Amino acid sequence: MRHMWIFAVTMGFLASPLSGQSLDATAALMRALTEAPGPSGFEEAVREIVVREFEDLGLDIRFDGLGSVLATGTYSARGPRVMVTAHMDEVGLMVQHITPDGFIRVKMLGGWLRQALPDQRWTVLGRAGPVTGISGIRTIHVTPGSQRDQVWSLEETFLDVGATSAAEVEAMGIRPGDGIAPQSAFVMLPNGRYAAKAWDDRVGLAVMLIAARRIRDEGIRIPANVVWVATTQEEIGLRGAQTSVVLADPDIGISIEAGVAADFPGMRPTQAQERLGGGPGIFLLDSSMIPNRKFSNLFFDVAEEVGITLQPDVLTGYGEDGAEIQRFDTGRPTVNLTVPTRYLHAHTGVIQRSDFDETVELLIQVLRRLDRETVGEVGNFRE
Ligand SMILES: [Zn+2]
Repeated sequence: MRHMWIFAVTMGFLASPLSGQSLDATAALMRALTEAPGPSGFEEAVREIVVREFEDLGLDIRFDGLGSVLATGTYSARGPRVMVTAHMDEVGLMVQHITPDGFIRVKMLGGWLRQALPDQRWTVLGRAGPVTGISGIRTIHVTPGSQRDQVWSLEETFLDVGATSAAEVEAMGIRPGDGIAPQSAFVMLPNGRYAAKAWDDRVGLAVMLIAARRIRDEGIRIPANVVWVATTQEEIGLRGAQTSVVLADPDIGISIEAGVAADFPGMRPTQAQERLGGGPGIFLLDSSMIPNRKFSNLFFDVAEEVGITLQPDVLTGYGEDGAEIQRFDTGRPTVNLTVPTRYLHAHTGVIQRSDFDETVELLIQVLRRLDRETVGEVGNFRE
């Protein structure tokens, strides 16, 4: 049943425009991951792809109690345990209540700018399968001049699924508590740039999955025990990371995230510093953690060694799963590695493929160096 359901969702988007460019296996994986609907708490469609990919690599799969996926392959049984994590959920909405005339009122799952909510298409994840909803907008013809530049509040936002009554909405399989995902097709742009929804954090999942595949296919020797973790419910408070880290029991952690690109009109370097095409990013400050400095320095050293430019990002107003690894047990060295992304938490974000490929490469190169001695040195505060 679930399989059919996801098949139907995927088929529905297959006609998306690709500017005549062809997809390689990596872009095809990104397309499948980004088009899958997975608001916080409703990660099923994403989890199915992640599990399939990990199983295809011959990794052992476990789940935590919140639905996070942990995949292990013993790269080096006696090596340190490294938790590499990315989250499966995306920002979305939840059905709050259905009006008598068949409109859906909503609550937010994760942080949205109110201005991003109206005039969009959404996928309501009802029990009878996905239903398209439109967040309607009042026409300009009836909007007083004084209100034309105003943003609607969440309370004024509603979804129209084409129904004429609450009974019709319920007959579509929609009930209060159902998840709602943005609807937006993967599109290739010039300069190796890809537009899609949910790069936060499907791009992190793709980094993990492609890195794991390259390690296997290229026979790359990793002196550590890597636990690949795809978490749930990051956008509403790092919840799947908090539970999965207990199962992973890591010595050291790497969070892979969508970074905040600040290279478009209206952004300033005092807000964020990454730019597309500048290479992977690394957070030196966010509102959830300050990374272990020896570990972040190791990333800079390795990047320089292999000829990759690593972009530092220092900003607040951004939290990530790494914080839960960092504060696990008595504390663990952790960093947040990112792929620069424009227009996060909206219907369409943009990444650049070269940044993605370099993030995968840097992750692999760091993992190659994480033997017992190096991890011990990173966590050593005596000197
Ligand atoms: Zn994220």
